Amino acid sequence: MALNILNVGYDSTNYYVLADSTPKLLIDVGWSGTLAKLQHQCKRLGIPLAQIKHLLVTHYHPDHAGLAQELKQLGVKLIVVDTQQTAIPLLRTHMKPEHKYVDIDLRDNQVITLDNSRAFLSSIGIAGAIISTPGHSDDSITLILDDGAAFTGDLTNPVLILDPSEESGVSWDKIRAAGGKRIHPGHGPIWTLD
Ligand SMILES: [Zn+2]
Repeated sequence: MALNILNVGYDSTNYYVLADSTPKLLIDVGWSGTLAKLQHQCKRLGIPLAQIKHLLVTHYHPDHAGLAQELKQLGVKLIVVDTQQTAIPLLRTHMKPEHKYVDIDLRDNQVITLDNSRAFLSSIGIAGAIISTPGHSDDSITLILDDGAAFTGDLTNPVLILDPSEESGVSWDKIRAAGGKRIHPGHGPIWTLD
């Protein structure tokens, strides 16, 4: 059964929930201090935030990971790909005191590798895999479901890439090769990769 994809985004960033009868995975979260907005959006779409078990972050920038620790404190497990570990401590350097950022504890996350991402996702009811797609940032990853839905974070749209051999262009080749079709970006509408 294909999972439903719900966009609980706000403030011009998309946050996606994969769900069947229960929500399985949240992909990205907003700035620190915006938990009430996330709660409001989830409620509006009938998703009990407390039921979301796992959070995956496409890359550790403030509008994609700022609330991660606050969500962990609500019982959500943060899934970290091992290639993202070194980017997490840098997140605090983007934050000002007024953001009230809660630093991400590195000790209690579920760390997975790209190689075991398919097995891990399967264990939480999701058919797909995670690949490394650097370009916007070194830690950027893309989740690709077996039905072709791909969550690409802030990877530059291919129409804006002048030289396809640059890092972002190579990442799009990897997404194509891995079966990515319906692109769910971090900002803007869903579009089809051809
Ligand atoms: Zn970014």
